[in-house]
Amino acid sequence: MTGNTTNTDMLLGVMGDPIAQSKSPLMHTAALKALGIPGAYVPLHIAPGQLGEAVQAIRTLGFRGINVTIPHKIAVMEYLDRLDESALAGGAVNTIVNDNGVLTGYNTDGIGYVRSLKAEAAPELAGARILVLGAGGAARGVISALLQENPASVVIANRTADKAHELAASWQAAGSVTGVSMEEIAGIIPDSDIVINTTSVGMYPYPDELPLDPGLLHKGLVVSDLIYNPLRTRLLEEGLKAGCSIHGGLGMFIYQGAYALEYWTGRAAPVETMRQAMLEAFGVSEADM
Ligand code: NAP
Repeated sequence: MTGNTTNTDMLLGVMGDPIAQSKSPLMHTAALKALGIPGAYVPLHIAPGQLGEAVQAIRTLGFRGINVTIPHKIAVMEYLDRLDESALAGGAVNTIVNDNGVLTGYNTDGIGYVRSLKAEAAPELAGARILVLGAGGAARGVISALLQENPASVVIANRTADKAHELAASWQAAGSVTGVSMEEIAGIIPDSDIVINTTSVGMYPYPDELPLDPGLLHKGLVVSDLIYNPLRTRLLEEGLKAGCSIHGGLGMFIYQGAYALEYWTGRAAPVETMRQAMLEAFGVSEADM
């Protein structure tokens, strides 16, 4: 009997709970096809109690790469062999690379966000005065990547103000970073160039919610939202009405995936193909964006 014992296909996947809603398989399947790389990217439903075994299975089954999503981005860190600087700075892992059984964790969310923000809305971040709403997992990666761009200041506002203070204190050495309560943002927005919503307020299934009073938005401000479901949040709609430039979360999603794919394959990611796959998945065209 002859059997093919050499698996040359590239196995990739995403671990989360829930996972059925994830658009990553669609996006990466299109990307692998565009690159002509034989392989598959599969959704993996992993409950929290199974995470350790699932990470071991990455080695056993020979997966080259894994994306990690809610709720595992922090918990997964303890099961990995190495953590890249991006994972340490962001305090979370969204990408695992398997090099012959050695698993390294990266965080591509922050760099993905900044690449998208610069490409689509604010090419120059040096000297910018940035207000970040939220102090959760996504905020960490985003703020650590923003600080690499030498902004003039970063103010973090959070519903639970203590978390904003703690996060700001942890970055004292990296630049001017302050933590405030949500009540204080009325005094900060007039002197801000960019406001970034990293909270989940306004995300499906509650698209009518707003993370701030829209009366505070002013002409010249860049309003950015990490949320990509809906593609254009109510915050962004209010920003448009107020004469602001707007930036949605789809670009971040695409670029975090593009960086991950580049780590796994060593090839430049087909970003335009990935973007088209996402627009198709949302049933919108470039003109709607
Ligand atoms: P998380 O760790 O659970 O943090 C949630 C944040 O939202 C916290 O700061 C929380 O404040 C705040 N928040 C939640 N409900 C609130 C409310 N009713 N009023 C005021 N603040 C509220 O979540 P995450 O992982 O950071 O994700 C946050 C958002 O980013 C989600 O919408 C997610 O879809 C989006 N995201 C997008 C991408 C992308 O690729 N575009 C990637 C990652 C995340 P407290 O601390 O007070 O609870």
